[in-house]
Amino acid sequence: MQKPGYYGQWGGAFIPEVLYETFKELNAAFTAAKADPAFWQEYVDLMATYSCRATPLTHADNLSRHFGGAQIFIKREDLNHTGAHKANNVMGQGLLVKRMGKKRVIAETGAGQHGVATATMAAKFGLECTIYMGEEDVMRQRPNVFWMEKLGAKVVPVTSGSKTLKDAINEAFRDWVTRMDDTHYVMGTVCGPHPFPEMVAWFQSIIGQEAHQQIIKQFGSLPARVYACVGGGSNAMGIFQGFLDHGEVELIGVEAGGHGIDSGQHAARLASKDASAGVAQGYHTMFLQNDDGQMMDTHSVAAGLDYVGVSPILTDLWQQGKVRFEAATDQEVMEALELTMKREGIIPALESSHAFVQAYKEAGDMEADEAIIINMSGRGDKDIFTVAHAFDDPSWKEFIIKKGAEYAA
Ligand SMILES: *Cc1c(COP(=O)(O)O)cnc(C)c1O
Repeated sequence: MQKPGYYGQWGGAFIPEVLYETFKELNAAFTAAKADPAFWQEYVDLMATYSCRATPLTHADNLSRHFGGAQIFIKREDLNHTGAHKANNVMGQGLLVKRMGKKRVIAETGAGQHGVATATMAAKFGLECTIYMGEEDVMRQRPNVFWMEKLGAKVVPVTSGSKTLKDAINEAFRDWVTRMDDTHYVMGTVCGPHPFPEMVAWFQSIIGQEAHQQIIKQFGSLPARVYACVGGGSNAMGIFQGFLDHGEVELIGVEAGGHGIDSGQHAARLASKDASAGVAQGYHTMFLQNDDGQMMDTHSVAAGLDYVGVSPILTDLWQQGKVRFEAATDQEVMEALELTMKREGIIPALESSHAFVQAYKEAGDMEADEAIIINMSGRGDKDIFTVAHAFDDPSWKEFIIKKGAEYAA
């Protein structure tokens, strides 16, 4: 029999002894909530009134004609409150925190998107909120730090190690050990020790439930393929769960190919040959690490995909051949983004654009009576600095220089 929290050989809960009781409590609360239909209904109602659920499924008819193959549908997670699927997870965990009677939440964030979502949830539920962030990331992600603070969160810059995400994770765990009685750690994706992968996947499954019903209603049958970008894997697990029981639907996860999977500068764990099995950050999966188990430096134009590990659930599905993994390069992502904006008036996040790349590579070779779904995990407004820089937009440059001069004066 499979041990709880394991997916094949992957997953588990490698936690310090002192957190044992806290995890026991969390497991009990989550198991009870999952078995209680009233809890799921409360979650669905909250997401309907606070976060625009159900999010639409948009038929991209211009792009479908452009490629002359499959009918392209886009699941619009960008229309969530705070602009991405992250809202599904944090609001769900917020309801669980209320159920456990805790008063404070902590989280770690790299790009800052999960920090903003958590700070939003904490404000809505009246919880104290502390966000750990590497000092480097605090410097790079000032707009998100600004909003976290304005939403009432305390942002703690972490100065140890490389001053980035993995150091922030360590610091957040250190905090949790000292405040276990009143604090919940809000994990941002389907990674980390059990029960987090299962919990986050459960909250995100709302995407797949809706998408399944919507494609049947709008197209009349199941899609041939479903595409999602994969950082930790939460938006992908969210939509995939709506189709996993239907073997005829092919599921495709798209990782960050960065400068190319042969360049050593990417974050492709399962689509490259660079990752190996290991235990870190409380769980067992395929990590981008060197022979000594030290985590490698990853690269992606999309900060949300720039991560060394990947969900143990996805690693298992990949090993079983149930999810195909591909990688999209930074360059391809910019091209897909531009095409999507011009043809459909939709601005996908750089992360989401990875899924669009792979769908666009394949759509033209498919039949017009087949449908594909692209999970658009978030909106691209947040990426204006990166995108304007990549397009080398002269007017934008002028605008930034002028703004800078205003403050310097
Ligand atoms: C955070 C983020 C991701 C990556 O996280 P997953 O857990 O892999 O879904 C993808 N897209 C957007 C827009 C994000 O903000």
